[in-house]
Amino acid sequence: MLYGTLMERRIANARAGARKYRVYTRKDIGTLPQLQRLSVTDRVAMEAVAAVLPFRVNHYVVEDLIDWSNVPDDPIYQLTFPQPGMLRRRDFARMFRMIRRDAPEREVRAAARAIQYSMNPHPAGQLDLNVPVLDDEPLPGVQHKYRETVLIFPAAGQTCHAYCTYCFRWAQFVGIEELKFASREADAWQRYLKAHPEVTSVLLTGGDPMIMKAAVLRRYIEPLLAPSLSHISSIRIGSKAPAYWPYRFVTDEDADEILSLFEEVRQAGRHLALMAHYSHPRELGTPIAELAVRRIRDTGAAVRCQAPLVRHVNDSADAWAQLWRRQVRLGAIPYYMFVERDTGPRDYFSVSLARALKIFNDAYRQVSGLGRTVRGPSMSATAGKVVVEGVALVGGQRVFVLKFLQARNPEWVGRPFFAKFDEQATWLDDLEPASGAKEFFFEAGLRELAARRASGWAEREAGFTA
Ligand SMILES: *Cc1c(COP(=O)(O)O)cnc(C)c1O
Ligand code: SF4
Repeated sequence: MLYGTLMERRIANARAGARKYRVYTRKDIGTLPQLQRLSVTDRVAMEAVAAVLPFRVNHYVVEDLIDWSNVPDDPIYQLTFPQPGMLRRRDFARMFRMIRRDAPEREVRAAARAIQYSMNPHPAGQLDLNVPVLDDEPLPGVQHKYRETVLIFPAAGQTCHAYCTYCFRWAQFVGIEELKFASREADAWQRYLKAHPEVTSVLLTGGDPMIMKAAVLRRYIEPLLAPSLSHISSIRIGSKAPAYWPYRFVTDEDADEILSLFEEVRQAGRHLALMAHYSHPRELGTPIAELAVRRIRDTGAAVRCQAPLVRHVNDSADAWAQLWRRQVRLGAIPYYMFVERDTGPRDYFSVSLARALKIFNDAYRQVSGLGRTVRGPSMSATAGKVVVEGVALVGGQRVFVLKFLQARNPEWVGRPFFAKFDEQATWLDDLEPASGAKEFFFEAGLRELAARRASGWAEREAGFTA
């Protein structure tokens, strides 16, 4: 009872203090008050980067999360505001000159597009290898890479409350049509799931599905609760709203409707997990952020937390330890620490595997067992999710001990394998088998899977049905 009234009072306070959601984009760089402390050159530089990579932030992030006295080093500023180092030097110089001379928008866009195409927006074979097939047709907006889990990208959820500078999904935000995946056809993915009883988990992802109105989100969740899809035991929503716009779960017009929808998942005998993307402890340090977690958990949903390790943002063991401790305190569950993948502005943000492992271990040592539900540092590679377990001495040689947490071929999961230690390596591709073999044990199998996939597509294009 006491808890009930306390909670109600907190919500009432949050409602009274709630401000209307306001976003800032590239066109606001010249006028956003907090940016006026930058030099004109720095603002032109910011616009130059924002012309190529998407920029979007909201007033909660600007006013409550960023410490402007610490700019440009502030981690949340680095997380959301464009940085010159995100473009290759030559590309940056070209865009900078264009913005400085106020080039026509058409010209700026053409130059930006050329740079975007050269930046590899869909790594890890996502477009080709993961798109499932239904009635001999590729199923847009759906990915099925690991046996148990299907990803759905709702068409209306392809944006976010703010954009992370390191995000690999930027092609979805800048409108390169052929690089987007988004699902519109509810009927198609439902039929696909009915035909695949091995799938036990559906993950709604984006962008951020929590950008959608409750009524639209319902169109994705409700069908999954049907008795004909009883093999779906869990529904996950990948979201950064708890960090970037916690008001989504507290004071937004349809916040209560969202929470009732979460409750319905439990009533239907399934589990809902909000896969919350928290990059830095500060994102859990405001009263509204705490309240959002409280309210989500009160529906019976779990909050599981994941984020990539990113240079300039959270490349410190203390930041992660504090992040995991705050999560545990709020009853949220630390889940994954990812290694930033090979895409777009990665050079600026990447952390070597050796350093990632050290940061992970130094943080892991600082938390109790309840925080050690986290796994990492993990790479989402073409073959699967590969965790760097440690560095070991094997026969006098220093090696990385690696293991699949998830794999395209379930047989690969759990089998340790070894790579020559390499201080500089940032990704699986940079590593070599410790045994001296030409390739890792899974590579031939991966080529075979890819070849089978490619010939399948070719046959379909030629009008064969297998
Ligand atoms: C990470 C991921 C999943 C989910 O994996 P879990 O280990 O179950 O969290 C599913 N599909 C893809 C493509 C992924 O990258
Ligand atoms: S919230 Fe997620 S999808 Fe959106 S920009 Fe950040 S990392 Fe990308």
